[in-house]
Amino acid sequence: MTANSVLQELAAYRSVNNILSIYLDTDLRSKSKEAVRLMLRDRLRGIEQHVPAGLLQRLADYLDFEFDWRPRGLALFVSEELWQVMPLPVAVPAQAVWAAQAYVRPLSDVIDRFGAYNVALIDRQSLRVFAVRMGEIQAQTEALGEALKRHRQGGWSAQIYQRRQDNLAIHNLRQAAEALEAFTEQAGVHRLVLGGSPDVLVQFREVLPRHLQEQIVGEFVADISASTHKALQLSLDVAQQADLAQEQALVQEAITAANKGGQGVIGMADTVYALHQGRARLLLVSDTFHGQAQVCGHCGSVSVEAAATSPGECPLCGHDAVVAVDDVANLAVRKALETGATVNIVRNNAELDEAGGMAALLRY
Ligand SMILES: [Zn+2]
Repeated sequence: MTANSVLQELAAYRSVNNILSIYLDTDLRSKSKEAVRLMLRDRLRGIEQHVPAGLLQRLADYLDFEFDWRPRGLALFVSEELWQVMPLPVAVPAQAVWAAQAYVRPLSDVIDRFGAYNVALIDRQSLRVFAVRMGEIQAQTEALGEALKRHRQGGWSAQIYQRRQDNLAIHNLRQAAEALEAFTEQAGVHRLVLGGSPDVLVQFREVLPRHLQEQIVGEFVADISASTHKALQLSLDVAQQADLAQEQALVQEAITAANKGGQGVIGMADTVYALHQGRARLLLVSDTFHGQAQVCGHCGSVSVEAAATSPGECPLCGHDAVVAVDDVANLAVRKALETGATVNIVRNNAELDEAGGMAALLRY
């Protein structure tokens, strides 16, 4: 079953029981297995009392005995009658959501962005192309241009010879571009990662048709003879970097908009309020954010000072609907899902942390 069909089934899945949706960063290059388990425990805090104990146990057993820890990320959707595991090609911020429906947004994001891309590894003579789907190589092809010969003579004739070699290299790169174009058209996927030496990459980009240039997600430096595994891992790093760069850009967009009084808000109070009003189109939450607050269920006003008002009464709308919320991030994510806003959990972003750990881009 393809990742997309799993996604569609999950999105359409309805059950009388709630579903526990879990996302984990399982990239062991930067952390231990124990750290991953701790992160999961942390994310389950606040919802685990609602989840059947058997499910939590099965989850723990899965990580302890079944998961092979090769994928960099992991998504699980589990309930009394559902058990769906999705290895992910990139690390995702840890999250746990207990709700009536599967929380598929991060999965669909990952499939959208990294589920499918093509890798072209090039040098002046040859091309290797891979189709990467959900972190694995699905298809590959190679093309070999005309051989370039080393020249040992010096002098004037050497210059002519060198020019001829350069022209031949350009000719090969053009052929490689054509072969790549044919491959990507057949693959039907429009994301491209390039690998090679820096000077060849510059030349290759120049000979690529514009529509292929626009597909480039990023580049890595590698020798044409790199192993397939190595090329795959390097391309996954590029995909991950592209993800972080995109998060960074979104955070900056929200902060700039908020500072200019435009379509953006920052900080817990303004963000939750905007979410309540259904004005947010994109929610950004720092993965380390854990805010507590008094939130009015009627108008969405947020107050951090517990004693600011008589218990239960909202200072803004006067309704008797104020409740203490232990994890405002969870509330915000739920509210975003209810109102059709995209959720982006953001990692390692000092700007968002300084802005209060939470921000949103608004529809109006
Ligand atoms: Zn209120």
